[in-house]
Amino acid sequence: MERLRQLFEAKFAEAERADPLGAPMFMDTVQAASYHRIRRDILQWVLEMLPSNDNPTRADAFTTLRAANVARQKEWDASNQISLSYRGNELAGEVGEACNVIKKIERERLGIAGSRDTVEHLAEELADAIICIDLIAAAEGIDLDAAVRSKFNATSEKVGLLTRLVAA
Ligand SMILES: [Mg+2]
Repeated sequence: MERLRQLFEAKFAEAERADPLGAPMFMDTVQAASYHRIRRDILQWVLEMLPSNDNPTRADAFTTLRAANVARQKEWDASNQISLSYRGNELAGEVGEACNVIKKIERERLGIAGSRDTVEHLAEELADAIICIDLIAAAEGIDLDAAVRSKFNATSEKVGLLTRLVAA
């Protein structure tokens, strides 16, 4: 996959450097400019779709989490007794833990006396909440990737914003 990325990066760099009028002989200057622009856009699109070292799971972060959650629950709750209401309480607990960290971070920013906390700990509690949310979605057969995309885009549409989440 990395070799494929390097190949497309080289082709993209080549397209960026190319003389816009240096297209195949049968093209006039307008066609040549259009040819180069489209070629560059296609290469850029392919590069955006390819996983990178920086973000190897960007295409399917929810899918990866779901697979790990399902596998781990077989270890953790072999007789499958955890109920939806248990998960609901768990989620409220994790969100509460995150909120308590946020309170302490804010307390320090405001210079108010009391215990302190860290952004690293906040990251842990936010991760716990996401993991728990996926467990709830798994129990109810929800495709979280599709649900997040659909709701994100519906909100953008409702509020009149241009940003959209597209499928991986
Ligand atoms: Mg926690």
